[in-house]
Amino acid sequence: MSLLRVEGLGKSFGGNRAVDGIAFSLERGELLALIGPNGAGKSTTFDMVNGQLRADSGSIVFDGVELIGRKPRDIWRRGVGRTFQIAETFASLTVVENVQMALLSADAKLYSFLSRAADHRRDDALALLEQVGMKAQADRPSSVLAYGDVKRVELAIAMANAPKLLLMDEPTAGMAPKERNELMALTKRLVVERGMAVLFTEHSMDVVFAHADRMIVLARGRLIAEGRPLDVRDDPQVQAVYFGSGRTFEKAKAGVAS
Ligand code: ADP
Ligand code: MG
Repeated sequence: MSLLRVEGLGKSFGGNRAVDGIAFSLERGELLALIGPNGAGKSTTFDMVNGQLRADSGSIVFDGVELIGRKPRDIWRRGVGRTFQIAETFASLTVVENVQMALLSADAKLYSFLSRAADHRRDDALALLEQVGMKAQADRPSSVLAYGDVKRVELAIAMANAPKLLLMDEPTAGMAPKERNELMALTKRLVVERGMAVLFTEHSMDVVFAHADRMIVLARGRLIAEGRPLDVRDDPQVQAVYFGSGRTFEKAKAGVAS
């Protein structure tokens, strides 16, 4: 049984069919890229899976349970996590305190975090930081970290609830190519080690080709292709719809503007 099975999923905003009856599935241990031009419906799809948005039609079965109609907190408790940007207000906390906060939240003890974050599950938080290569910086203020390191901490925070499925919407936005590749290589390692699944959106085709096990392509709310990255790359419909005439993945890779 697939960890996630989406069928006939649809969402409209007014007359705009943002997501138009898409179907896909995701297995444990798999890193799946969701790509498509701006406005294709990627974030809307994510938000239906995590419960922020309610689907108009279709089904989202996760670990044998229908998610449509459930509250975000319920979906999160069942093992669907997502990465969040570290809020400004938490920038004054140290790296390890940020992860301890996330562990408190996972334990539903948020009410007492102010008094107890300093000693709550510090060892667990350090173990999570070690997994993302950030243990040595645990006691530094989050505000002084390099951007790529902040992204690693955000990943550690998302792992605090030990998700079975992690949703990452544009995780590498604003990062340099080298940092992007490092973050997704790390993500892939966690996927394999923990047997979890990751669904992520990404604009850099290099990153998708280098790290994704499989990819699905959305255009105007419809799923137009699915498969292994190198097979999808050569699909004429994908080349035409995703890049427009005359623009190809090869040109995109070379950084040729559209
Ligand atoms: P992507 O993440 O692929 O860029 P989105 O899922 O954000 O695309 O958007 C898909 C379509 O739905 C776009 O046409 C967008 O304008 C529209 N849309 C997204 N969210 C809303 C909303 N809250 N209200 C109205 N329209 C929305
Ligand atoms: Mg989006």
